[in-house]
Amino acid sequence: MSSAGSPSGATRFAQPPVVACSTRSTGASQNAALSSGGPSGPSRKRSRPLPDVAEAALIVHGGAGPIPESERALRQSAVERARDAGWALIRDDALGAAVAAVRHMEDEPLLNAGIGACLNRDGEVELDAGVMRGADLAAGGAAGLRDVRHPIDLALAVMRDGRHVLLAGVGASRFARDAGLEMCDPSIFVTDRKRQELVGGADTVGAVARDSEGRLAVAVSTGGITGKLPGRIGDSPVPGAGFYADDRFGAVCGTGEGEAFIRLGLARLMVLELEHGMDAEKVADGAVAMLGRVLNAQGGVIVIGRDGPPRAAFNTPAMPFAIAQ
Ligand code: ASP
Repeated sequence: MSSAGSPSGATRFAQPPVVACSTRSTGASQNAALSSGGPSGPSRKRSRPLPDVAEAALIVHGGAGPIPESERALRQSAVERARDAGWALIRDDALGAAVAAVRHMEDEPLLNAGIGACLNRDGEVELDAGVMRGADLAAGGAAGLRDVRHPIDLALAVMRDGRHVLLAGVGASRFARDAGLEMCDPSIFVTDRKRQELVGGADTVGAVARDSEGRLAVAVSTGGITGKLPGRIGDSPVPGAGFYADDRFGAVCGTGEGEAFIRLGLARLMVLELEHGMDAEKVADGAVAMLGRVLNAQGGVIVIGRDGPPRAAFNTPAMPFAIAQ
């Protein structure tokens, strides 16, 4: 297992990478949607057969944002604990590993998910979560939650139920109760009101996993953005915006200005670029470059292709992440 923090393995807050996506080099990435190249003549690779044996990998992030210097090491440690919690389950399957990592981070008060999440304009916590399984494109999202102890559990229950993809608000709470999930008093999520009011939002948590059978999964959970209007739903519970997984090509997860991810359909676009043959590193860098270039937005992404190492990129001052493989 790499002790992570960067794709090269060092445990640290990586500096923002150079986000410009290389545009004119190889055929596969040339002119693709996440590059800044022109519209003509992309080289499109069609899907290849799935590998019999894949190299298991997990990448976990604790959110891209203006993280105060004083919290960086602590948040990095929290992300590494989550990575360990997920990696312990990677032998079972990618979905279990990704969900376990995110579930762990919902209990880390310095991260913007579950306990310690940021507050909306009314000083309340409203939580969103999402999950996707790349084998069959099953997806579940839950949004605007106030009393569901682990939002990721609800997203998973929505996915497994299969009737719908996205549930919100009181209906989502009722579904959670009926499913026997742990409910809680909303006050449990507020541990340090002053800090949660001030914390510069946009630091969702997420995990992407690939198991040794080549199955891919992604899980994500968030309090959204600080001072958001009550009822606002970001990209994190929306497949194709904040996350996406398809075993044939790869899985991705985003963090940052959710409205930008939704407008760009960025997660789906990233997996499309993997399908077209762009490698995970270029997809990550290209997505972040696109956020800045097209919508002047900030954020970060993590990516795992159907093979190769996990990748991360961000254009914010920091994004703690950790890798195991
Ligand atoms: N993407 C999240 C949202 O807009 C915020 C974040 O990444 O922290 O809800």
